[in-house]
Amino acid sequence: MLIISILSLIFLLYTCYFAPARGAAEVLTERTEVSPPSVTPSPSPTNTPSPKPIIYANVLIDPGHGGDDYGAEVESPSINEKILNMTIASRLYELLRRDSEKVRVSMTRYGETTVSRPRRVEIANETADFFISIHCNTSESSLARGISTYFQTHEGVDKPFTSEELAEVIQRTTVESTGARDRGIQYDAELYLLNHTTTPTALIEVGYLTNPEELQLLLDDDYVDLLAEGLRKGILEMADRVIASHK
Ligand SMILES: [Zn+2]
Repeated sequence: MLIISILSLIFLLYTCYFAPARGAAEVLTERTEVSPPSVTPSPSPTNTPSPKPIIYANVLIDPGHGGDDYGAEVESPSINEKILNMTIASRLYELLRRDSEKVRVSMTRYGETTVSRPRRVEIANETADFFISIHCNTSESSLARGISTYFQTHEGVDKPFTSEELAEVIQRTTVESTGARDRGIQYDAELYLLNHTTTPTALIEVGYLTNPEELQLLLDDDYVDLLAEGLRKGILEMADRVIASHK
């Protein structure tokens, strides 16, 4: 009798303390078999994160002149402005292609094609959050040197910044990067591109072909890198403002 009672007690204890644990293990096993540990949880209205919108700034770079239009020319050595503009713009384009989380960069021309000024304006107004035109300057004085940036105002156009602000930033970052003489920003009522764009636009004259020392710098790859890096910094600063205005 005592033996039967002890066996009953052992059975009771086993049922109370061990059986449920085995039951849970069985349930777990069943669940595991039915639906394996999911890497991608099944969507439900409460746990599906809404996809983050991809925000970046569309930047248009204009290598001034090109094709039939040579721009400014000097004879000794024989240099065309269109070639220098393209060299600087291409280097800048190459750098900005690596900043794809902030900018989508395109150019008005990629080779020696002739692109009319109205067409450049059209591309800028249709596609760009802001527009940078790259040129080289000339002067009757061989002493003239340095960087200047031109702008117009575009009142009434709903943009995160004005052309003047764009010109200020591009001028500052490019002068800082190159150490060139700072000729400042200038309002210009005549330049065609500035007259017809409705997106913030700055036209930068990166140096003087007529100054022998500055011309040598403009022909130097390391100096072109400094120019491109300075332009890039300014462009990224303004891209941040475009992105912030969309948030
Ligand atoms: Zn030019």
